Amino acid sequence: MADQYTMQDPTQQYPKAGPEYMQEQEPPGLQVEMTPIPDCGERTYRGTGRLAGRKAIVTGADSGIGRAVAIAFAREGADVVLSYLPEEEADARQVVKLVEEAGSRAVAVPGDQKDEAYCEQLVETAVRELGGLDILANVAGMQQFVTDIAELTTEQFDATFKTNVYGLFWICKAAIKHMKPGGTIINTSSIQAYKPAPILLDYATTKGAINVFSKALAQQVASKGIRVNVVAPGPVWTPLQVAGGQPTEKLAKFGETTPLGRPGQPAEMAPAYVYLASQESSYVSGETLNANGGTPTP
Ligand code: NAD
Ligand code: MG
Repeated sequence: MADQYTMQDPTQQYPKAGPEYMQEQEPPGLQVEMTPIPDCGERTYRGTGRLAGRKAIVTGADSGIGRAVAIAFAREGADVVLSYLPEEEADARQVVKLVEEAGSRAVAVPGDQKDEAYCEQLVETAVRELGGLDILANVAGMQQFVTDIAELTTEQFDATFKTNVYGLFWICKAAIKHMKPGGTIINTSSIQAYKPAPILLDYATTKGAINVFSKALAQQVASKGIRVNVVAPGPVWTPLQVAGGQPTEKLAKFGETTPLGRPGQPAEMAPAYVYLASQESSYVSGETLNANGGTPTP
């Protein structure tokens, strides 16, 4: 069975999109209702003890990139607290099972990260249930395309910033209080931070903010022995994209303009988070690791 270490042609490793990718769901969307179902490494991610004994929080852990990160962290030996929205319970149940099958603890803490009290409670629960906190992977995010600024409501602008920027700030703030030297934070930006799509005005702006926030925070907490880094994915096949993230007709060619010519799968993002979470990246902080199919970035 192939795993993430098997040498193969990256242009052929996963299929291109096609007409069958055109589908629509209400946000936040459920991965169990997608066709094809994204690959989050369920059958392919092989752990080698790179995070043995670590205690981690993963946000957006029910589906897509967060699910792939939760599976990878668990298979590398970490216990994982899973954050997601209550309406995503069907996806989250599968992840709890996968983490437990890896021999790790899974603690589900559903809630809305637009709410500061939830963000604090998420971290407090992790510290209480796991006995500390070593890794915070902020993967949750919302993306709703709007073609014209005239139709971009204050409510949406606010919700995108509350979810993508404020929630991340509140969770980082609560987490750092509990982190010891060696602790790591990994935030999630996007290719949208460098090549913003005209229809993603609010979303792309939050992703730029996440890069800058992370570079500033990395310097602030360096003397505490805590590292802060970022993963910036390109087009990845997840619920976010089919639940208002893209116009449905665009999904048939999703990822086609990347140099590798196809969309990425969540499973291909997880190793970047594992690297930045582990001690292997001990001299890396304030960095953004682009996993975007080969598109040049500044
Ligand atoms: P996804 O829909 O699987 O994951 C996003 C998750 O965010 C949801 O599952 C949900 O649990 C969580 N979330 C959203 N709003 C929330 C709220 N208010 N409170 C708590 N949780 C909330 O999609 P994904 O593509 O895996 O997204 C993960 C991250 O990757 C996001 O930050 C997204 O911006 C980023 N990203 C995705 C792509 C892509 O092409 N899919 C590209 C670049 C960056
Ligand atoms: Mg989800």
